[in-house]
Amino acid sequence: MKVVIIGGGVAGLVSAINLARKGIEVTILERNNKCGKKILLTGNGRCNFWNKNQNPNPNCYYASDKELFKELFNAKKDLVLDFVNSIGIIPKEINGYYYPYSNQAQSFYNSLLKMASNLKVNIKTDIMVSKIVKKNKFLLTTNKGLIETDKVIIATGGKTYSKTGSDGNGYDLVKSLNHKVNTVLPSLTKLIGKDNFKDLKGVRSEVILTLYEDNKEVKKEHGELIFTDNGISGICVFNLSGIASRGLNNKRSEKIFINFVPWFNGNHKDLIKWLDNRSQELKGYSLCEILEGFLNYKIVNYMLKTLHIDVNTKWEKAPKEKVVELLMSFPFWVVKTGGFEEAQVTTGGVPIEEVNIKTMESLKTKGLYLVGEILDVDGICGGYNIGFAIMTGLTVGSDINA
Ligand SMILES: Cc1cc2nc3c(=O)[nH]c(=O)nc-3n(C[C@H](O)[C@H](O)[C@H](O)COP(=O)(O)OP(=O)(O)OC[C@H]3O[C@@H](n4cnc5c(N)ncnc54)[C@H](O)[C@@H]3O)c2cc1C
Repeated sequence: MKVVIIGGGVAGLVSAINLARKGIEVTILERNNKCGKKILLTGNGRCNFWNKNQNPNPNCYYASDKELFKELFNAKKDLVLDFVNSIGIIPKEINGYYYPYSNQAQSFYNSLLKMASNLKVNIKTDIMVSKIVKKNKFLLTTNKGLIETDKVIIATGGKTYSKTGSDGNGYDLVKSLNHKVNTVLPSLTKLIGKDNFKDLKGVRSEVILTLYEDNKEVKKEHGELIFTDNGISGICVFNLSGIASRGLNNKRSEKIFINFVPWFNGNHKDLIKWLDNRSQELKGYSLCEILEGFLNYKIVNYMLKTLHIDVNTKWEKAPKEKVVELLMSFPFWVVKTGGFEEAQVTTGGVPIEEVNIKTMESLKTKGLYLVGEILDVDGICGGYNIGFAIMTGLTVGSDINA
């Protein structure tokens, strides 16, 4: 029994290790001169591979079929840390996020490759698969000639950071084998608005974001926001970007209200009262000086400019409702998202309904298997995507024996 895996990212390497441990002859074909280029970029070079708060609800993962996804998740979630340990990585948990104890993606990468080599996985680099034909066996067309095999695992990833090798070519391979590909879009990326934020570029602020889709609240995120010259970024923004990406693609309106006073417990009226008291306590202070006590001065200036309020204006003379409105519900209309080259993950891909979730075998072409980001499942920030790649790698080929 010969198994060929196309793509040597996390999903491909975990699949190879999983199958080689059963004594199966496995070959990885990787188009780059080395496997796993994307792994080295993850988690800011630290590789956040899993999360203690893994939870298969729509807040952590988007999946083309949530019930099927939950089935896979529940079957495999308890095996991820054991697997990581089994390749030599001691995990370190920081606020629920798991990293290698060394804090280096390189350790994770080295351990995957070392274990694959220990298990005699045949890794062939600089081989690009451009065509797959299924007769009795599979015939793969590559830049180095034809390769024949009994089973094929497609682990070609999504369409982001194409310089790492995952440029979306895998979608053409699966389409030629009767699979559907749900529209692929960038996720975990910045959001671009209609206003100009040049004066705020680089400013960070702790906020609560509330995303409205067609005027209906769909999701809240609390975290650090970073302004770009034409939009917003940061983990809390990334975690809304998948919904916004899919929504904009479906011609829905996507609007975010930014609350710049996440520490304040109360509504607009309560904040007016609080500012009334604050202004009494801080006699002689202008509104601008009061606000600067808890908000970056550039954001304060931007708000005052937007409301045409002079910097020396006192709170008592300011349009109180309007000021509080901007502090608690600053509107941001999403016009588009960052592109594939800056997004961390792809939303869309092969519907998981088209694979057997117990084996990852295609329901369209026998002997073909699909793992990792090529499938229409994507997670928020926090190790959920590498976690998904590992879970599929641990599932694939449960029906294949040596
Ligand atoms: C900057 C960045 C940071 C990230 N940080 C995190 C993080 O901290 N935590 C997290 O969970 N997720 C993170 N992600 C997402 C995560 O890296 C991916 O979801 C995950 O690596 C997908 O794994 P994969 O094996 O499915 O695909 P990939 O890692 O994309 O691997 C696919 C492989 O297939 C090869 N290939 C493609 N086509 C062919 C072909 N035709 N022939 C041969 N080889 C081919 C490619 O060269 C590539 O090596 C991050 C992503 C980016 C870009």
